[in-house]
Amino acid sequence: MGFKKFFINLTPSPLVKLFANPYVAGDSIQAAIDAAKKFWDERHLCSTIDLLGEELQSDEEVQYSADVYKRLIDALGSQEYSSLSLKPTQLGSHRGTEHCKKVIEEIIERAELDNIKVTLDMEDSSFTDMTLDIFRALHRDYPTFGTVLQSRLFRTDDDIKSLRGLNARIRICIGIYNEPEKIALQSKPEMKKKMLDQVELLLKEGHYPEIASHDEGVIREALNIAERLNMKKDRYEVQMLMGVPMQAFQDELIQNGILVRLYVPFAEKWKFAIAYCKRRLAANPAMAAYIVKNILHKTAGRR
Ligand SMILES: Cc1cc2nc3c(=O)[nH]c(=O)nc-3n(C[C@H](O)[C@H](O)[C@H](O)COP(=O)(O)OP(=O)(O)OC[C@H]3O[C@@H](n4cnc5c(N)ncnc54)[C@H](O)[C@@H]3O)c2cc1C
Repeated sequence: MGFKKFFINLTPSPLVKLFANPYVAGDSIQAAIDAAKKFWDERHLCSTIDLLGEELQSDEEVQYSADVYKRLIDALGSQEYSSLSLKPTQLGSHRGTEHCKKVIEEIIERAELDNIKVTLDMEDSSFTDMTLDIFRALHRDYPTFGTVLQSRLFRTDDDIKSLRGLNARIRICIGIYNEPEKIALQSKPEMKKKMLDQVELLLKEGHYPEIASHDEGVIREALNIAERLNMKKDRYEVQMLMGVPMQAFQDELIQNGILVRLYVPFAEKWKFAIAYCKRRLAANPAMAAYIVKNILHKTAGRR
């Protein structure tokens, strides 16, 4: 475990909660829908709403999560601004691929009735095969079903090629999970360079890349690639996390006719939000440094 991660794990829950405020829409389905609607009405930003929760090991918690997604779909109804994102380890991966696929299919079936698109997020590398197996199996019957690939993994070029002909929505990001050097790049600049190559590959292979990054340089370069390949602006989109302060850039992209979508997470129960909030904390260098400093200060004071 790295130094930063160690300290973030020590961060008291109320502090994590306070910090996480801008990154989480709220603690109800209605709060998530209100946030997504506000982004659309005020700024023409699309959303992908995500129920927080991962690594669930009990059938009851999985059933609860699946039910929340179904209630969310019913409340969201047919609209033009929001899709859904969900995770295998939140929806039955503990009982194997077939079970997880069944739980996810029930959600997609319901979402399809209202033309709501669904994306299967990518978790750490121990779930890559399972995620892609579920994606491939369900994409046959639900062509708008999308998934995510992570540029840091050495396997991703091959994974893209293995999806040839699917013309799928593929979110491409560097990936948030630390992975061992045997299977993944370790340097962020290399990951970002790879991500740009993969945006090009996805476009050439006929997919719809969803360029997920907060690095303005990476996004601009990805858009240059699309332009160089003469891709129409409806062949790709840009995605960012709610709460990362990039409003001016997002508005500029939208004015230039690029679809921008925010990841809008919510949790009815705080315990399901902690892992996500800690990852956001780790990704925000200024805030993470501030917390590490405070914990060190308090620990030193106690001695
Ligand atoms: C919509 C969306 C969906 C995603 N889905 C997945 C997924 O399914 N699986 C997965 O592994 N990863 C996912 N990610 C995470 C993605 O891999 C991370 O965004 C990535 O790890 C961070 O890389 P970056 O390209 O933003 O570059 P970075 O270099 O990490 O960030 C660029 C700049 O953005 C700023 N920034 C980044 N995060 C924060 C923050 N929390 N607070 C303040 N500033 C910040 C920093 O100042 C930094 O300078 C998703 C990201 C997005 C935007």
